[in-house]
Amino acid sequence: DDLARAQLESRVRPALEQALTRELDTEIRLVVTIDTAITDDSKRQNDLSTYSQNVGFTAEVMEDTDEEDEEHTRERFAPSWARQPTVVTGRPANIAEARLNPRYLFENFVIGSSNRFAHAAAVAAAEAPGKAYNPLVIHGESGLGKTHLLHAIGHYVLGLYPSSRVRYVNTEEFTNDVINAIGERRTGALKRKYREIDVLLVDDIQFIEGKEATQEEFFHTFNALHNENKQIVMTSDRPPKNLKTLEERLRNRFEWGLTTDVTPPELETRIAILRKKASSDGLTVPADVLEFIASKVQSNIRELEGALIRATAFANLQGTTVDLNLAQIVLKDLVAEGGEPEVTIGLILAQTAAYSEFTIEELCSGNRTRDLVLARQIAMYLCRELTEMSLPKIGQEFGGRDHTTVMHAERKIGKLMKEKHAVYNQVTELTSRIKQRARQS
Ligand code: ADP
Ligand code: MG
Repeated sequence: DDLARAQLESRVRPALEQALTRELDTEIRLVVTIDTAITDDSKRQNDLSTYSQNVGFTAEVMEDTDEEDEEHTRERFAPSWARQPTVVTGRPANIAEARLNPRYLFENFVIGSSNRFAHAAAVAAAEAPGKAYNPLVIHGESGLGKTHLLHAIGHYVLGLYPSSRVRYVNTEEFTNDVINAIGERRTGALKRKYREIDVLLVDDIQFIEGKEATQEEFFHTFNALHNENKQIVMTSDRPPKNLKTLEERLRNRFEWGLTTDVTPPELETRIAILRKKASSDGLTVPADVLEFIASKVQSNIRELEGALIRATAFANLQGTTVDLNLAQIVLKDLVAEGGEPEVTIGLILAQTAAYSEFTIEELCSGNRTRDLVLARQIAMYLCRELTEMSLPKIGQEFGGRDHTTVMHAERKIGKLMKEKHAVYNQVTELTSRIKQRARQS
């Protein structure tokens, strides 16, 4: 009845919210006792499931038993983001419009002290878009999970509110849209694209620095969304206050909500990330190998995953399984942090061209001859592996291609390396040539 519901609201919700924003890795068990003498079963079921939907939990009514089945309880009362299946939910049209990467879910995001707060804030923002933290800004160095969290928010929002309109955009794409809209006098379409939505996810906002027209447009976009309590989430490679050529009025707005950071993960978290990655890719990797890799790669999760893929791909090709000895041989190039020379896209293009016997122009052209496509995709893959460049930036450098083309190349080469000896050898050989050159320069 209403009184019971009000009590549930006032007592349970704050406790859950507190748990959600603070201690996400602890088990949350919600036990609701309802006197069955005064409520009939179907109503009871109804109330609970409506309530659990509202707070983002999945709950089922259980009969009161003395015997506690631990696993069972944990499973039933886990927050719904932890139970989210790996399939993406939401309405197809809304999913397509959101432009989310299906692999970046809360479910496969490993929580540790380096990202606990950012993760909790992301979950909270996704559960109550526009209400919890608006805007939410997540900042931190490259490869620490910012983009992953941004996409995860989008997926989770679509799962909870299937008809909501979510849009992920990289700041470089936003900039291009602004430039094109101005050039073609189509600002109406631009406004519809970015203002008629519920959740705007803006990646790498630092690229807005120094771009006046884009800042102007973003300022108005921000205001329009914020006024209507629409959620804005942004990521940046540094805190907003360090964005030097950002207009004061924008910086000011970025600080209206919550700013949180992600930092390099500790050893335990790195191992946990590798373990999760291995299991989601169906790889069996001994614990000492995971520890070895985690101890070698310390400050970038993208590189951490890259090292795991390299070791397992090699083992796969040899028809063996990866062990410590093999991992040490394959990853001998992984020098301790800081010792890595800087690799540029120019270097990657030049070396790939020389190696593949195509020209740089051909690599960046629209020509789709089979061998050329492969060489181009390898070069894109290496840009992802060896530089800090974003997907849109790489796409731009390769003759103005879309960022999804780069994403596709990255995935395809990663897969081919596991299946084809020749590709594995080419990528490895090219990598070592590029690194060698970079060290010399
Ligand atoms: P950033 O945007 O901060 O540069 P990304 O979100 O692109 O970093 O993360 C780089 C890679 O590391 C991605 O493949 C991502 O899935 C993975 N990753 C980052 N953080 C985590 C985490 N906590 N758990 C699992 N995978 C992670
Ligand atoms: Mg990113």
